[in-house]
Amino acid sequence: RELPVDPERGAGLRQVEGALYSLVEPTPVAAPRLLAYSAETAALLGIRATDITTLAFARVFGGNALLPGMQPFAANYGGHQFGNWAGQLGDGRAISLGEVINAAGERWEVQLKGAGRTPYSRGADGRAVLRSSIREFLCSEAMHHLGVPTTRALSLIDTGEAVLRDMFYDGHAAPEPGAIVCRVAPSFIRFGNFELPTSRGDDALLRQLVDFTIRRDFPELGGEGEALYGEWFGQVCERTARMVAHWMRVGFVHGVMNTDNMSILGLTIDYGPYGWIDNFDPDWTPNTTDAQRRRYRFGQQPDVAWWNLSRLAGALAPLFSGVEPLQAGLDRYAAAYAAADRANIAAKLGLVECRDEDVALMQSLHTLMARAEVDMTLWFRGLSDIDPDAPTLAPMDDAFYDASKRRDAEPALDEWLKRYVERLATDPQTVAQRRERMRTANPRYVLRNYLVQNVIDRAQAGDASGIQELLDVMRRPYDDQPGREAFAQKRPDWARHKAGCSMLSCSS
Ligand code: AMP
Ligand code: MG
Ligand code: MG
Repeated sequence: RELPVDPERGAGLRQVEGALYSLVEPTPVAAPRLLAYSAETAALLGIRATDITTLAFARVFGGNALLPGMQPFAANYGGHQFGNWAGQLGDGRAISLGEVINAAGERWEVQLKGAGRTPYSRGADGRAVLRSSIREFLCSEAMHHLGVPTTRALSLIDTGEAVLRDMFYDGHAAPEPGAIVCRVAPSFIRFGNFELPTSRGDDALLRQLVDFTIRRDFPELGGEGEALYGEWFGQVCERTARMVAHWMRVGFVHGVMNTDNMSILGLTIDYGPYGWIDNFDPDWTPNTTDAQRRRYRFGQQPDVAWWNLSRLAGALAPLFSGVEPLQAGLDRYAAAYAAADRANIAAKLGLVECRDEDVALMQSLHTLMARAEVDMTLWFRGLSDIDPDAPTLAPMDDAFYDASKRRDAEPALDEWLKRYVERLATDPQTVAQRRERMRTANPRYVLRNYLVQNVIDRAQAGDASGIQELLDVMRRPYDDQPGREAFAQKRPDWARHKAGCSMLSCSS
């Protein structure tokens, strides 16, 4: 079915009480054109390869037409943003088309981001710019291939329309190309979906949403009443812990960990001003909006996730007669994160098990990595190549950003290597086994900020082929890929302070 352009759409902006979503259709765009797609996500949905490159595909996933059975809607949610309650937010530019049940019986919700205004657009345009859409498309898939729980991306469509952003970008505001990402997940429900009804005292609506979520997304849970709710909350806490531990393993910084950007399934969701750690720095944040307080810096993410879960606990409190089950859930977060962190330490250092002294070993390494300004990805990958009988920094030569900082830290790094190989001597694995283990936990390729920015610059100049090229590299992040060494280099000097390569704003 062809969709009409609706000039009245903006008049629908409102506070939506007593409802979890609003029916709203995408607003058609001028000239939808496919720029990139994920064959893996298409396969999940049972979409044939030959259907992807058709005009019909671009029209449906650009928001110009609906397929039979699609019932588009925008979800209603609130959230804590940067520590403060923000009230009703909702899907201001995301519109779900519906759900697909694939041949394997899996259920996938299919959602367009940037498909036009909804009742939740709050005065904004409901659109997304090409640069942020490329970033979301690539990172969703890259994270999946890295083994990090995440929402997926099916397609990236050029709308053929310009979008105006009032923020600085390369120093000035200018019309930019618009785009639409189709993202895919079992559910897009966020912590904020639960916070909103509670903030309005609507306990019946809260209970309805919790029961729906458990029935649809946690069908394996048994029991009923408070026991069931408590177990469910505990599982949400554990999933969140495992997700954040993966972020810390690969050097991903989300950048906007507001409760409206926290998935109830423990999936990485809402790729905005995210970034990747180049030189190891626990204080780094990619988000210029957060530059002052640095609330969402890399090293803070495990604590912020806990804070967000406590906001969720507060939202769920009306379902419980006491706080103990919720406290128990939060304790499960702490335990699951500690266990996942230790598993990370063991895997990243190539040890069979993480002992207490290994936690200290990793901590001193982190301190040294920050001081010596070494690239996180190259360091850990290189570490799998050291010779335990004669350890030197040579396999990590490429990881250093600053020769004089390296010189200053070198005696301490040599000392650390000595401690490390002493520890390896007490680990039962062969050198080859250890190397293999380390190479499955320490990627060679990550979606470095400057790599994506290069692709964006090319796409904005009319050549979108870099998107699919970079996605191809990111399909096998743990393999050495001969001929693709250029994608595994540390951040070049020019990118250190370039917009898009080091810092990004929320507004996109
Ligand atoms: P975010 O910080 O990206 O998670 O967005 C926070 C809120 O702002 C969500 O409710 C979004 O739907 C909404 N939002 C962001 N950008 C736009 C836009 N261009 N048009 C409408 N709503 C938007
Ligand atoms: Mg969001
Ligand atoms: Mg966003």
